Amino acid sequence: MHIQVQCCGIILMLLLLFFYLRQRRVSLKTEQAFLRAFCVTLACIVFDILSIVVIARKEELPNLFVELICKSYLATLLGVALCALSYICVDVYSTKKHYKKEVLKYQLSALVGMLFIYILPIHYQFGEDGKTVLYTYGPSVISTYIFAVGLLIVIFYLMKKEKNKISPRRREAVGLWMGIWLCASLIQFLNNELLIVGYACSLGMVVLYLKLENPETNLDRQTGLFNHGAMVQYAKEFYKKEQGFSLLTIVFERSFHKHMHTDTRRMVRMEMIEFLLKIPDAFVFKNAEDEILIVFKDQEAAEDRMAGIFERFEKGWGKEGEFHVKPYWLYMPDSRIVNNVEDMLYLIRYIRQNNNEFSENHYIYIDADKAAAMYQEKETAQLLVNAIEKDWVEVYYQPIYSTREHRFISAEALVRIKDEEGKIVPPGVFIDVAEKNGMILRLGEMVFEKVCRFVKENAVEQYGLHYIEVNLSVVQCAYEQLAEDYIKIMEKYNVNPDFINLEITESASLSAKKTLLNNMKNLIKYGIRFSLDDFGTGQSNLNYIVDMPVDIVKFDKDMINAYFENGKAKYVMDAAMHMVHGMDLEIVSEGIETKEQYQTMKELGISYIQGYYFSKPLSEKQFLEFIAAAQREAMN
Ligand code: C2E
Ligand code: MG
Ligand code: MG
Repeated sequence: MHIQVQCCGIILMLLLLFFYLRQRRVSLKTEQAFLRAFCVTLACIVFDILSIVVIARKEELPNLFVELICKSYLATLLGVALCALSYICVDVYSTKKHYKKEVLKYQLSALVGMLFIYILPIHYQFGEDGKTVLYTYGPSVISTYIFAVGLLIVIFYLMKKEKNKISPRRREAVGLWMGIWLCASLIQFLNNELLIVGYACSLGMVVLYLKLENPETNLDRQTGLFNHGAMVQYAKEFYKKEQGFSLLTIVFERSFHKHMHTDTRRMVRMEMIEFLLKIPDAFVFKNAEDEILIVFKDQEAAEDRMAGIFERFEKGWGKEGEFHVKPYWLYMPDSRIVNNVEDMLYLIRYIRQNNNEFSENHYIYIDADKAAAMYQEKETAQLLVNAIEKDWVEVYYQPIYSTREHRFISAEALVRIKDEEGKIVPPGVFIDVAEKNGMILRLGEMVFEKVCRFVKENAVEQYGLHYIEVNLSVVQCAYEQLAEDYIKIMEKYNVNPDFINLEITESASLSAKKTLLNNMKNLIKYGIRFSLDDFGTGQSNLNYIVDMPVDIVKFDKDMINAYFENGKAKYVMDAAMHMVHGMDLEIVSEGIETKEQYQTMKELGISYIQGYYFSKPLSEKQFLEFIAAAQREAMN
């Protein structure tokens, strides 16, 4: 009896099973598919050995029994092919219903194949002695080949057709698995005495295990928690089934344990992980270096456990609870407020970025409103990407009137973008998002380039304009290359720096202020002048005007409105005005909407007025027409 090869196969399979069961697993659908394939393969090898044994004792055993064993081996071969097929279907069919329906089709075909195998006759090829059976053949064996090849064709067809849906690793693993199987079948078909198909099945399992199903690939080496990849797969299955789960995210900002010694930090970390691993009814994933996700199957399970988790963290770590780490907690009771895993991770990032929302107790409740705000931001970011890519960025100009010269002497450049339908989107919608994701650098540069081109092409000085004011975001101000880039743009368009005035606003951080001052120094040296924008909004600091080398201070619309509405606010603005004038700086009053407001500002001695009273921001063409008309009127 030649069963050595098959026995090696069994040993290989048992070894595999040992390694597989030893590891913690997330219980993914592919894991179940793997276990199914494993059992069928094991059965296949066992029947392979049994069939060799019963054939050897054919004389002593009932014919029907021998036939049954041999045919069962053939049937398990079809089973292996069916397993491979359902394995890739996990990726191909996105909903559970669709998956079940398609797999049922293949299961039925395999069942028909098995029926043929059991019904049709099988023959035995005897050796020269007329007693030893060498191999089996006949209609039953042929129908095995036909159905197995049929299933293999479907597998390779699906892998090609649904290439984009199946992960490349899975395609490669299943391809290899079936490739080995096919080669072995071919060799056995050509050389019937070489019984290697059963062993090839076990090799296929090894490939699958190594490439895909090694549970260790789902673990984070450092902590032993499940890793980001496992989390994505696990959560994906919930979204596929349209089933919700609850998520508790723990965020460990670096500053929380900066004060700890490295060894202490390590000890606290291990203690914490040990605790997290023991949380019942939950899977714990290390999503990022500073982020742990705890997934509960539903809200009830989450809320049952959360109090205990918080309590444990309150208690402190170390022998006597002397080490305290106070992380941020994000709790999302129902994952269905977002549509998929990618959005869920985006939502966590979004909430973390806006972490000024974290209250005293370091806890945020993530509800549908937050998800809606996240989607809104995502949409805006996409709008920005499109606008920048397709150059749907436009600059509008709002004229600024000089109360001394009684004419328009400058304008503020204000950005707008267009959406897919060509509708104009105002900056209030997208500037914050652009600042947050850094796109403001590119956007600001585009605006500046457009202003330079506009100044040069239209020779704005012929309209009596002295300069154009261009807004700079705090993010741009804190960008070290800013001065260099802007000077390059002006050189490209050969623009006289006298025509440019850059508006800055107050930067919150000290380092940003340092970079800004450096940028300003270089740009002033080149000939550009600056304004301080938004003066009088919540964040204004009088010292800022002292520190910043600006020529103009722009009084914000809010401050102007307060001046007209609130008796006390009058004194604030009076004082600010005296101070600014005392420093020999000019003032622009923004947001002047009525004649009364204009008259008052003029009487107060404010030199420049900007507001709807004169004009709203206008497109390039409208602006030039407006200025030309105003110029003609002034001459008459
Ligand atoms: P800002 O720099 O203070 O610009 C003045 C804003 O007040 C403009 O809004 C303008 O349309 C509006 N405004 C002017 N006069 C009146 C008025 O009489 N009544 C009312 N209700 N509003 C008036 P806009 O164009 O929507 O811009 C809003 C803000 O977006 C700007 O405030 C500025 O901070 C920012 N922004 C605009 N363009 C740019 C840009 O190119 N780069 C950067 N970084 N920020 C920009
Ligand atoms: Mg401005
Ligand atoms: Mg302003």
